[in-house]
Amino acid sequence: MTSQAYDIAIVGGGIMGCGTALGLAKGGMRPIVLEQDDIGQGASGVNAGTLSLQIKRVKLMPYALKGHHAWEAMGEAVGFHKTGGYTLAFNEREAALLHERMELKREAGAPITFVSPNELAAREPSLSRRVVAASYCPEDGYANSSLAGQYYRRMLREAEVPWRDRTRITSIEATGTGFILRAGEDVFHARRLLLACGGWLKDACEMIGVSLPVRARVNTVSVTERGPRLVGSVIGHATGLLTLKQKPNGTVLIGGGWQGEGTPQDGRGRVALSTVVPNLQLAQFAVPELRNLRVVRSWTGFEANVPDFYPLAGAAPGVKNAFILGCVRGGFTIGPYISQLMADFILGREPELPLFDPGRTFNLE
Ligand SMILES: Cc1cc2nc3c(=O)[nH]c(=O)nc-3n(C[C@H](O)[C@H](O)[C@H](O)COP(=O)(O)OP(=O)(O)OC[C@H]3O[C@@H](n4cnc5c(N)ncnc54)[C@H](O)[C@@H]3O)c2cc1C
Repeated sequence: MTSQAYDIAIVGGGIMGCGTALGLAKGGMRPIVLEQDDIGQGASGVNAGTLSLQIKRVKLMPYALKGHHAWEAMGEAVGFHKTGGYTLAFNEREAALLHERMELKREAGAPITFVSPNELAAREPSLSRRVVAASYCPEDGYANSSLAGQYYRRMLREAEVPWRDRTRITSIEATGTGFILRAGEDVFHARRLLLACGGWLKDACEMIGVSLPVRARVNTVSVTERGPRLVGSVIGHATGLLTLKQKPNGTVLIGGGWQGEGTPQDGRGRVALSTVVPNLQLAQFAVPELRNLRVVRSWTGFEANVPDFYPLAGAAPGVKNAFILGCVRGGFTIGPYISQLMADFILGREPELPLFDPGRTFNLE
């Protein structure tokens, strides 16, 4: 049985929860991070690791750029590689879509240019010759999500931020002066509360009586066996349905937001053959020599979104001293930065960029 008072209890030990905890500790607060599994083993530990400005929403571009720089600063400890990235179009309709989307992102500050199919073939000879248009962003790259938990764990330890693994919060009581959180026999007292529960955010908000239109998604990622060098850059598709990168060890990681099955309450979800197959076919279409490599594993993870696909980052509507952070699409990229903004907000400072009021979503069902 634990009963201690903290300045803030953070429920969820992913990038969002850990990143905010570090910012708060730096600002002089005493947070505790409470994680139902192990730190960094939710979406933050199983994602495809793509850091691509080309697949972020236009309004999130400044956040994504700052996120890229944050990952770059973490460097080797998180397997960061700035490789540049190409987004491909295979027909005129996709080319029009590519131009329309990338122009807007360019206007929003992403250093995106267009390259001709011949230029592309010279730079990435293993890509399909059926590309009719392509865009390029030198900022794009990837980090290794399986190192994120380890990294944040070390950072928490160095900042002397306590955390508890295997601690699933099942009830939260608002007392007027703070919160009482319960996980089995364990009880935690805190003056403030941050819910950073990823795919489980809807349930967590309901514990404090806040009902938001949060939906869980089950994203799929696959990895091949090691092979000869095929591509050096991060590769995407105009529709957003493909991300592909080859790691230094020769394995190729393939994603694109294809949906598996299951719910966050079920565990990690299940891979659906009906979506893995078209994902791999698209990858093979983009890099024909991929057909020589076997896929050794596919897996899923949960993330959440709201109907307008913008983050929830701000005060919990109607609950004093409670805050919500989640539903950040491309949250691996943006996480280290938006969690810093969140920490500033909780510390009573003006965040460098605006946050995203969760209360706006009440009318979005
Ligand atoms: C398969 C997949 C691929 C992706 N690929 C990319 C990509 O390539 N690039 C990119 O930028 N983004 C990607 N994303 C999105 C990105 O991973 C997420 O947006 C980001 O990791 C979310 O971080 P988080 O901290 O909000 O959530 P999480 O990392 O899921 O952390 C939330 C934590 O809360 C814990 N929790 C929940 N409820 C409770 C409770 N009641 N008590 C205690 N703990 C609780 C969970 O166990 C979990 O660890 C991908 C996501 C998935 C699932």
